[in-house]
Amino acid sequence: MTVANQKGGVGKTTTAVNLAAALSMHGQRVLVVDLDPQGNASTAMATEHRAGTPSVYHVLVDDLPLSEIVKPVPEMPNLFCAPATLDLAGAEIELVPMVGRETRLKRALGAFDAMEFDYILIDCPPSLGLLTVNAMAAAQEVLIPIQCEYYALEGLSQLLKNVELVRAHLNPALAVSTILLTMYDGRTRLAAQVADEVRSHFGDTVLNSVIPRSVRVSEAPSYGQSVMTYDPGSSGAMAYSDAAREMAHRAAALAEA
Ligand code: ADP
Ligand code: MG
Repeated sequence: MTVANQKGGVGKTTTAVNLAAALSMHGQRVLVVDLDPQGNASTAMATEHRAGTPSVYHVLVDDLPLSEIVKPVPEMPNLFCAPATLDLAGAEIELVPMVGRETRLKRALGAFDAMEFDYILIDCPPSLGLLTVNAMAAAQEVLIPIQCEYYALEGLSQLLKNVELVRAHLNPALAVSTILLTMYDGRTRLAAQVADEVRSHFGDTVLNSVIPRSVRVSEAPSYGQSVMTYDPGSSGAMAYSDAAREMAHRAAALAEA
């Protein structure tokens, strides 16, 4: 599942890391692939990602097997991280002349199938470039975090158009399966308006669970933790736990249908 939105700061990384942690605590085996050169997801998962560390960059550009970079996340038995380093910033350009440049990640994940994860969450950079295209080509589902702020819907049509292009040319299985409202501030009318607007546009794709704005959520990464372990009783942790449960129920319902 690809976590994408070309806007920065909408909660992609926070969502990838915390949903992954929540799913893993529900007993699922989960891998987070960090596809943002900033490596914020790697930081939040306490996974080494200094420049030069074997990383997603080497997988995409040098054909290093994914299994050689995947690391278990400390204290989290079912959670794994494929780290990103700043090297990845160059990949956007280095990939351009390569054969199958849009499907390098898909190939790497295909060769890696044996390890059997229940969920693979790919944390995208804030752009619609080749890295995000690689993520969309490799995934079955797109999860779009939407920040409950003014202009929340701006740029979404561009994102959806790109999903369509990838579906048409690279990955017929791709669908926007999940939209998650993030950084919801219940004290403002604006947040409620944005949430209503998103729900009226996207209907059932939007999870019922809404992630509140919470200081605990923003503090957790500096401790190399998800909010799920940093403060399990906090509103943010409970919201991500609810969202994970909702996603698992949906997956189960789909499997039965
Ligand atoms: P993106 O990956 O889309 O750029 P991030 O997940 O890094 O966005 O979030 C942007 C900033 O907002 C970060 O500083 C993060 O800690 C903060 N943030 C994200 N979600 C929440 C939340 N629910 N409550 C408070 N702060 C949040
Ligand atoms: Mg991010």
